[in-house]
Amino acid sequence: MRTSRHFISTIKEAPSDAELVSHRLMIRAGMIRRLAAGIYTWMPVGLRVVRKIEAIVRQEMDRAGATELSMPLVQPAELWQESDRWGSYGPELLRFKDRHERDFVIQPTSEEVITDIARAELRSYRRLPVHFYQIQSKFRDERRPRFGVMRGREFVMKDGYSFHADYADLEREYRNMYDTYSRIFTRLGLRFRVVAADTGAIGGTGSHEFQVLADSGEDAIAYCPDSDYAANLELAEAVAPPGERAAPKEAKEKVPTPGKTKCEEVAELLKLQLKQTVKAIAVVREEAPESTIIGHFVLLLIRGDHDLNEVKAEKVLGKFRFAKDEEIQTALGCRAGYIGPISDKMFTLYVDRSVAAMGDFVCGANDAGFHFRGVNWGRDLPDPQPSFIVDIRNVVEGDPSPDGKGILRIQRGIEVGHIFQLRTKYSAALKAVFLDDKGASKPMEMGCYGIGITRIAAAAIEQHHDERGIVFPRPIAPFEACVVPIGFHKNAAVREAAEKLYAELVAAGIDVLLEDRDERPGVLFADMDLLGIPHRLVISERGLTAGTIEYKGRTQATAENAPLASALQLLKDKFAAA
Ligand code: ATP
Ligand code: MG
Repeated sequence: MRTSRHFISTIKEAPSDAELVSHRLMIRAGMIRRLAAGIYTWMPVGLRVVRKIEAIVRQEMDRAGATELSMPLVQPAELWQESDRWGSYGPELLRFKDRHERDFVIQPTSEEVITDIARAELRSYRRLPVHFYQIQSKFRDERRPRFGVMRGREFVMKDGYSFHADYADLEREYRNMYDTYSRIFTRLGLRFRVVAADTGAIGGTGSHEFQVLADSGEDAIAYCPDSDYAANLELAEAVAPPGERAAPKEAKEKVPTPGKTKCEEVAELLKLQLKQTVKAIAVVREEAPESTIIGHFVLLLIRGDHDLNEVKAEKVLGKFRFAKDEEIQTALGCRAGYIGPISDKMFTLYVDRSVAAMGDFVCGANDAGFHFRGVNWGRDLPDPQPSFIVDIRNVVEGDPSPDGKGILRIQRGIEVGHIFQLRTKYSAALKAVFLDDKGASKPMEMGCYGIGITRIAAAAIEQHHDERGIVFPRPIAPFEACVVPIGFHKNAAVREAAEKLYAELVAAGIDVLLEDRDERPGVLFADMDLLGIPHRLVISERGLTAGTIEYKGRTQATAENAPLASALQLLKDKFAAA
């Protein structure tokens, strides 16, 4: 490819609303152009990157035994009603009517359609297992589209769906995909971590996320440097503190804390550490067996320096919401900021594991302007029942790893892939049944596997860039190498040598760009760096006289000279060394 014929449209300044480096660089490098919120055109340079990512994903999926098809972008509402997701998917699902007033959606994912295929095509155990996948545009009307294509509304996903006669075979395929995804992200040149996103390790009922490590990532990952434990923050277990609870040293005392409604303020006033305080969070269960407000009202206790984990809390309580001021007043006779567990009122109390292990702690006194200090379980209030001692907080750095093999660290990541054991959720709803070898009718076991193709382009840049621009890993760079002649339009010898080298590299199968624009060398070099092309060969009049070219790797500080005649071999060596 020649730059004069390709469409290079780099710009100096990114729009001010582009917060992430990858978003800024993709716009500056002319990879994408915005059409509307979360909706982008892939410009020629960007599309090459997307196509390379797709090719690697396709190759590995095929190698793993999956088979490609392509399902319609537009899907009838009836299928979504059958699975019950017409109601549950919510406003992320883009719905519209055709000219006959029939409801349709633009697919955000394709479980319904593939299950419809499965129920028609896979009637016998002899047809199983099957793994179908597609690489295709999706639309999700995200509440907050942002960071360019990282969280777009229209984006490209590889989505795969496997069907099995029994659970053991689903587990086998799940492991196969776990390995395939690991191979894909390794080939893409990404630093990533596989994290448990649901209960259990691979093989258990579960789900794993593939996270590209980047400080700007939206997800937090807890991992243990001394073992292979890794889980997303929503899931990572906070184990009970080791050892016995210390015996009480202080007497319980009611202390005035006027205007101090936050644990931090109370700790400061009382000259105590934040981790000696307890915060009480009032919530209301949306579906509680009891019918009164008190029956729905629950107090959660968390250590002052910890954060509530709403996903974990929901597992304990079912759906809940935070209590309103008047509900807190009714339930505890006190306003928020001074509430606590010591009360003669009726309510349900759940205690985080670390709070259950505390002694001599500080909590609200259920009297506005007052807290208690020196509070102890079993003396000042009843010991919590074991079933009300729960894990409802986020883990923090330094917590023990749940596998007992060290301490947890936290790092941020970008979710680029997700594998999931769906079991019979969709096959049961859509009656996708098959006849087993004894003639019995059974719902198929099902797995689903997603990769965010377009998000990967952004995630790769987030991980690989410098002050001059993108530093693409070679497998996904828009071009593997570029030939930059100095004076292409003025000097016939330079032009001839550049054309000859370019032809030689193309013939050798190298994806090379000939930089033949009539621009100053500084502009050409800056653009090739911004685009992230990993290898650069410069041809100049002076070099030709000496029979040399100048080579520079994208991350190298200085260039090196090499014989022009062995330029191809030099590139091959550099490719092999990278
Ligand atoms: P997220 O938690 O980021 O919203 P998700 O759980 O909704 O992701 P899945 O339904 O598992 O995502 O989709 C599979 C993959 O598609 C994700 O791992 C991600 O890489 C990609 N993806 C999901 N939503 C978007 C989006 N809005 N823009 C770009 N890629 C996306
Ligand atoms: Mg989502």
